Amino acid sequence: MKSYSCILFDLDHTLWDFETNSHQTLQELYHYYEIESRGVESFASFYNTFVEINTRLWELYDLGKITREKIRFERFHGILSHLGVEDNELSLTLSDEYVLRSPKKSGLIPNALEVLEYLRPRYPMTIVTNGFEEIQYTKMASSGLTSYFKNVVTSARAGYKKPAKEIFQFALTEGGFEAHEAIMIGDNLLTDIGGAHNASVDTIFFNPNKIQHEENPRYEIHDLKQLMEIL
Ligand SMILES: [Mg+2]
Repeated sequence: MKSYSCILFDLDHTLWDFETNSHQTLQELYHYYEIESRGVESFASFYNTFVEINTRLWELYDLGKITREKIRFERFHGILSHLGVEDNELSLTLSDEYVLRSPKKSGLIPNALEVLEYLRPRYPMTIVTNGFEEIQYTKMASSGLTSYFKNVVTSARAGYKKPAKEIFQFALTEGGFEAHEAIMIGDNLLTDIGGAHNASVDTIFFNPNKIQHEENPRYEIHDLKQLMEIL
């Protein structure tokens, strides 16, 4: 088995449990702002619409077609519109509150801490993320991840976002490593796996839902615990 000198990790959906944390946040907002009384049928319809629209906006962002401001400010407008609620003020309030509250949630992907404890003495680790700078730092602190990482590279700081090879090269240069010494772990086939391939970095695809795909990662896992067999 090939050995590596450093590990690059994606954050959202790979370590930080975006789904659980956003579900909790949306539940709070739904009750606090009495969204049901505005004609939204149920929390489930609110949540499902969020997932659908948020996923689509992030895909467009990853493809370089929209800006992060667009995600931030149009996300809830789109959600409320879709649910038949036209209330600009409410959509801006929800946008602000979501961005404030959600990064303070501490939910992690199962076995994340146990695996990071195992990896920390063995490898220097770097987060490579397309998320928003200040938000990603808050998420890491809230969930107890900060101390495991030597470095955090956000797209804002690198000036490039995944899947561009430059963000991976930026992370490697800062750590003093060559591409062949590194391995990237992430849940996204386009940004993490495709991006690392662009930079000639080996990959581990974290695929908890066992989706079908055509990519060719070096390894594929469905539970973070499997990293302890590979690394
Ligand atoms: Mg991710």
